[in-house]
Amino acid sequence: MQNISEIETLIKLISKLPGLGSKSAKRIVLKLINNRDELIKPMTKVLAEIYKNISRCKICGVLKPISIECNFSNCKLIDKKHNKICVVENISDQWSIENSSIFKGYFHILGGTLSSVGQRKEDLLINSLVERVNKDNIEEVILATSATVEGQTTAYYIQDSLKKSKVKITKLAQGLPVGGEIESLDDGTLFSAFKNRSKINSE
Ligand SMILES: [Zn+2]
Repeated sequence: MQNISEIETLIKLISKLPGLGSKSAKRIVLKLINNRDELIKPMTKVLAEIYKNISRCKICGVLKPISIECNFSNCKLIDKKHNKICVVENISDQWSIENSSIFKGYFHILGGTLSSVGQRKEDLLINSLVERVNKDNIEEVILATSATVEGQTTAYYIQDSLKKSKVKITKLAQGLPVGGEIESLDDGTLFSAFKNRSKINSE
């Protein structure tokens, strides 16, 4: 392979994506180059648009257009329809739960777990969760963090942060396989974990 610096840079960037090593990255780059008009052109455009227009809400963590507040999607609704918040680690967990249609309520996406490498406590949206719970008359907080040590440590920390709030806190049922990450669960497992969730505080 000739050393073309742009190609090398692209391969390096793509290998940073989840599940991709340098071999898959090379195959992807070749596919892109062979489909300039069908892939590279629209992809360049949409990536630039996403970079410019989409971000995570600083309060609830969902993805939203930069230009609008969270009014119509999650945390700043004028018309509160639900009284439950489901707390997850990442946006992919939110997507899994939404796809399975087992939960009707609002989401709160922490943006990681407490013990993840390089994760600072301040970067997780925990303070804003406490504020939401107190401000929005939330009756139940469902902790849907993974059944990993990090996920459970985070759940415990959140439970502690909410101890002054008058809210019921529940945790997904034990049906979760140990080490199970929410996004990798099938709908059936997720459904029974939600349905059989248990209360973990005394409110
Ligand atoms: Zn929001």
